[in-house]
Amino acid sequence: MSTIPFDNTYSQLPARFFSEEVPESVSAPEFIRLNTDLVDQLGLDADWLGSTESGLAVLAGNAIAEGATPIAQAYAGHQFGGFVPQLGDGRAILLGEVVDRSGHRYDLQLKGSGRTAFSRRGDGKSALGPVLREYIVSEAMAALGVPTTRALAAVASGESVLRQEGPCPGGVFTRVASSHIRVGTFQYFYAREDTEAIRILADYVIERHYSECLQAEAPYRSLLERVIEAQCDLVTHWMSLGFIHGVMNTDNCAISGETIDYGPCAFVDTFHPEKVFSSIDTGGRYAWGNQGQIVLWNLCRFAETLLTLLDDETEKAVEIAQETLKPFEEMFAERFDARFRAKLGLSDSGSASELIGDTLDLLTDQEVDFTLFFRHLTQVAAGHQAEALQAHFSDRERFESWLGRWQQESCPDSRVDMMQAANPILIPRNHRIEEAIQAVYQHGDYAPFHRLVDALAKPFEERAEYADLEQAPQPEEVVCETFCGT
Ligand code: AMP
Ligand code: MG
Repeated sequence: MSTIPFDNTYSQLPARFFSEEVPESVSAPEFIRLNTDLVDQLGLDADWLGSTESGLAVLAGNAIAEGATPIAQAYAGHQFGGFVPQLGDGRAILLGEVVDRSGHRYDLQLKGSGRTAFSRRGDGKSALGPVLREYIVSEAMAALGVPTTRALAAVASGESVLRQEGPCPGGVFTRVASSHIRVGTFQYFYAREDTEAIRILADYVIERHYSECLQAEAPYRSLLERVIEAQCDLVTHWMSLGFIHGVMNTDNCAISGETIDYGPCAFVDTFHPEKVFSSIDTGGRYAWGNQGQIVLWNLCRFAETLLTLLDDETEKAVEIAQETLKPFEEMFAERFDARFRAKLGLSDSGSASELIGDTLDLLTDQEVDFTLFFRHLTQVAAGHQAEALQAHFSDRERFESWLGRWQQESCPDSRVDMMQAANPILIPRNHRIEEAIQAVYQHGDYAPFHRLVDALAKPFEERAEYADLEQAPQPEEVVCETFCGT
């Protein structure tokens, strides 16, 4: 089957939702990697996509697959708190949608395939570094069980793109997402006071993502509730893995509840709640520990756009929105606790919050590697000696007293399974991602990239051949700063 069975719905929405585009051709495309599992799940033909000229041409943007209706989606967004009424897909083109083997609908999008009506001053292209980064991290997130957009393919364009650091090799990334509708998509129409479009978009979202809302007494309120819940789940899950999204602008907040936009994201090595990696997040707005407040802020912006759907009277609508948002804080705290209870092997009952908070304080004060701490604690729960765990702490006394408390509060019978499922052995560490990118930039060597992707496909499994990837960076390897893909 040398085609993609497109079944496009977004391009059927009114014309003001998008702009029709044609991907720009690239001069010398070459395959880097095809995600054959995902290709399979989507019912696509891996032999065609991954090993033929015409498959490569589609993934490079050099040919438009039959049935595609390439568009750039319009959206707005609050970037670092400041509203930008028009952003939109400036370096991405949605080819269309496919329905997978179990009936789920997915967007297929090319990233880095040239300018669109929303490109502003950008070139619409992607450097290879951000392409590889998004491939590695989004697939790692999927394997960690976190809702996320996926990587279908990465292709080198054979061209060079100009970035701050100089000319870089270019690439095209194929992204798969439950949809690319963002809080910012609603804001685009809210800013234009286009209430009709908001209703059309909300109805579309309900049908595509939250069809159960149709049975609710107040479907739009129910939609708001569902999005709040999805984001609450998502961000607490991130935090339990030490993940910092880095650019939680409302245009990077997906209505589906998937993680989207892997620009300056990072997993913490040495834990600190105020940790920030993004070079442009100078105020620490999107620090690890701020992500709960920020997602609430984003959800407030979403609620705002729905006001006309919540009630005809503005005052009543605001009241409904506020009421719907009220449970957020408690829900967030509950889910955060549940995630960390599992990481520590604590039972459901009892006041776990105190031990959780004290544990995070201890990790902060003692500058402990987040992932290795929970990994080694899981080994202790499984009956290993505490040496590897203890080695993380310079204050022995404090550690001993913490360990005694943990032994008392955790439940020996059930903790191991719980902890093994919550504490990954492998995460995409920054220095490893950087190493993989540099191997490509400097030597055209893709081996470290492929090895990293292969390893991260099973992050909870202990595999001796990847033991080196578990390790925290040496002082000279630490990557302190990450950059947007632009
Ligand atoms: P992001 O940082 O990926 O969330 O992008 C923010 C906005 O900038 C979006 O509207 C992007 O489409 C746009 N953008 C980012 N990089 C480029 C680029 N290279 N060319 C054109 N637009 C871009
Ligand atoms: Mg974005």
